[in-house]
Amino acid sequence: MVDRLSAYQAKRDFALTTEPQGAATTQSSANLRFVVQKHDASRLHYDLRLEVDGVFKSWAVARGPSLDPHDKRLAVEVEDHPLDYGDFEGTIPKGQYGGGTVQLWDRGVWQPQGMTAEEGLASGDLKFTLAGEHLHGSWVLVRIKGWSGKRVNWLLIKHRDAHAREGEAGAVLETDRSVASGRSMAEIAAGTGQAPTPFMAGGSIAADAIWHAPESKAPSPADEDATTPTKPASKPRAASKPAPAPKLAKPAQVPKPAKPARAPKPAKHAGP
Ligand code: MN
Repeated sequence: MVDRLSAYQAKRDFALTTEPQGAATTQSSANLRFVVQKHDASRLHYDLRLEVDGVFKSWAVARGPSLDPHDKRLAVEVEDHPLDYGDFEGTIPKGQYGGGTVQLWDRGVWQPQGMTAEEGLASGDLKFTLAGEHLHGSWVLVRIKGWSGKRVNWLLIKHRDAHAREGEAGAVLETDRSVASGRSMAEIAAGTGQAPTPFMAGGSIAADAIWHAPESKAPSPADEDATTPTKPASKPRAASKPAPAPKLAKPAQVPKPAKPARAPKPAKHAGP
């Protein structure tokens, strides 16, 4: 685990940023979790993180996820992140890697479809379902062939299903409100408002506790990768073919995106 986070750790000066150091305090869960963090770095993007084998496989989605199956959104693969990162909301100091404000924009559980996550990632064609607050149903990440340079580029595409919204590409992105604290990007940047309720902390997602019993945890300042996706690269290899209906097993296990409990105290931001 530690080895798998060496790229993550090498990019950061933990004396300057309060991002999680990847000490592996967060345990894996049988129900795989995901988060999407809105990250106002040098270029605004959305970081999609899928729990795989004890870490978050991560992609910086250039224009954010789209509910329109016609939209293929560039998703630049970035370094694995520690699971603790799924509770991170705040501000990464300027000049640090990924400097800027991070908002917990969505979170929930996910499942690979048709194969294991490892197989899907290795094949460059990971089909999966999401059960979050904003994102639902069936999706695919397709690795783009012939990528050049150091980046590994993927496309994030919504499958056609009951959760697809043709012609409403950006609609889902209009909500500027943290699923963890209720705060806007501006409030997070200002260090005001409620502290985020934790999601990853505590280990298991069976967690009413996770959603309803927040330990007040000082929000650590912001997030990561300074990846600034540039142009949507070449050709999508996969046409989005109709996917099987999303079947996220046991709804009972899906965390209720309850309203962030009103934490009694204002967030104490350590950041600048
Ligand atoms: Mn980012």
